[in-house]
Amino acid sequence: MAKYCTNCGKEVEKNDVFCQYCGKQLVEEKELVKEGETVVDPNRNNPLALAGFIVSLGSLFISFWGVTAIVGIVLSSVGLSKIKKTNENGKGFAIAGIIIGGASIFLNIIGFIILLFLSLWA
Ligand SMILES: [Zn+2]
Repeated sequence: MAKYCTNCGKEVEKNDVFCQYCGKQLVEEKELVKEGETVVDPNRNNPLALAGFIVSLGSLFISFWGVTAIVGIVLSSVGLSKIKKTNENGKGFAIAGIIIGGASIFLNIIGFIILLFLSLWA
């Protein structure tokens, strides 16, 4: 795919930062910062967000006293903050992971209280 200078209209190399004809900066500064970081395909789902979602969902079934849910929330949160930087997909998964993880911890607390009452009355 050919790329053209926005200033003089001449064809430029895809990876050129400046136009070799007129010297106009071709890459947005925002993009330049991103080039310094790991190259991320913005169309993929962030793997941490996805992992957090799956772990949180799993924590509803296998809780380990809420540890699974906490892991799910942490993964989702880290995934969400990465998504904000990289514009990757998976924001919905990250948010769902945090919400489900939170609900899972809540259910654990309820379960714990019920068990506590049951053991007191036993
Ligand atoms: Zn130019």
